[in-house]
Amino acid sequence: MAEKTAEKHQVEEEDKKKQEIEELEKQIAETSEKIGKQETPTPKEEETAAEEELCSEHQRKVEIICITDRSRICSNCALFGAHKGHDIRMENEVVSEITLRTELLMQIY
Ligand SMILES: [Zn+2]
Ligand SMILES: [Zn+2]
Repeated sequence: MAEKTAEKHQVEEEDKKKQEIEELEKQIAETSEKIGKQETPTPKEEETAAEEELCSEHQRKVEIICITDRSRICSNCALFGAHKGHDIRMENEVVSEITLRTELLMQIY
């Protein structure tokens, strides 16, 4: 009999703990909701995003050109993503290459 009472007591204790945890979870949810409302994305970040193209998959700066697909990709795409093993160039390289070729063509004509 004494054992049963102890068990019951334990169950009650556990119920209390559960309620406490639920209360805490509610509070956390409310707090994070408040924080989420207060913290609107800073305009600075939006500005840089507009200036620099970001990979939609990795949110990284698009600075590599995939020659195989003729598309602009980020370093993650080139190394681990869909463009792994493709013929890739750094954007700067391609730009200078194009400039060089244009200069050569200008000399020829
Ligand atoms: Zn990417
Ligand atoms: Zn590719």
